[in-house]
Amino acid sequence: MEVILSSPRGFCAGVVRAVEVVEICLEKFGPPVYVKHQIVHNPHVVNDLELKGAITVETVEEVPPGSTVVFSAHGSPPEDFEKAKMRGLRVIDAVCPLVTRVHNEAKKYHEEGKKVLLVGHEGHQEVQGTMGQVEMTLVDDAAGSQLPEWPDNVEVAVLTQTTLSVGDTAEAIKAIKERYSGAVVRNDICYATTNRQEAVTKMAALVDMVLVIGAQNSSNCNRLREVAEAHGVPSYLINGPEEIDQRWLTGKVKVGITSGASTPEVLVEQVIEALAPEKVTLLNGADEDVSFTLPRELR
Ligand code: SF4
Repeated sequence: MEVILSSPRGFCAGVVRAVEVVEICLEKFGPPVYVKHQIVHNPHVVNDLELKGAITVETVEEVPPGSTVVFSAHGSPPEDFEKAKMRGLRVIDAVCPLVTRVHNEAKKYHEEGKKVLLVGHEGHQEVQGTMGQVEMTLVDDAAGSQLPEWPDNVEVAVLTQTTLSVGDTAEAIKAIKERYSGAVVRNDICYATTNRQEAVTKMAALVDMVLVIGAQNSSNCNRLREVAEAHGVPSYLINGPEEIDQRWLTGKVKVGITSGASTPEVLVEQVIEALAPEKVTLLNGADEDVSFTLPRELR
């Protein structure tokens, strides 16, 4: 069997920064450091930080007064900052700057008097944080999903979650433009999501099966699996080698591997080791040289 490795894959700049933020906080302020929501959607990363003294909670109310809390990379609604202030918490916000950009766009369009539509997945942490910024309406990225019935002269601005499927989002935006032709559209799918989906599309044409390494609750990992499957290749999302089902491998000569923006490379290495291929081929892909500065409080 040959393994074909997609590139780029794995950690994006926002995830690298968020993990570094927790590590620096542990060093600077000492454990425990509380983290509101999984710092990034990967249990391996979360467990690693918890072993060093991080404590993951889901709500600000769970953080003892006076403690240090890191807000996750997905972004948080303003009310969480308010609650933290009331509890006297030291907040370090590890939100990805590309998510902050979406928040700022939302505020700008709202101030301009536009109706804001957010294309995204209900319940996702990033969507909760963005929806909290200003009044806006969520539209699922499934094309044809129901749009609000606003008068034709209403000015509309369209934002998107950063980790959506590039193809599905294009369809959703097309449907919105058909209904609100004057809508201002900001496609906010980030560089890491776009590059990983482009790379998996290229890889899917060469392989019999795709393994996406990452967590079930990771939006960008799920989209990678869907993109590969949309190209007619059986595709499975697994956390690591222990989840490989040997039946999937029957008759497979070329197995493609990729990983989401929150997946550490060590898990990819472990999966390759478990497959024990005769050959590993690395595909060329987009170069990524993105990095973000740390939050002001830690610089
Ligand atoms: S996936 Fe994109 S938006 Fe999310 S943390 Fe990474 S770079 Fe930022």
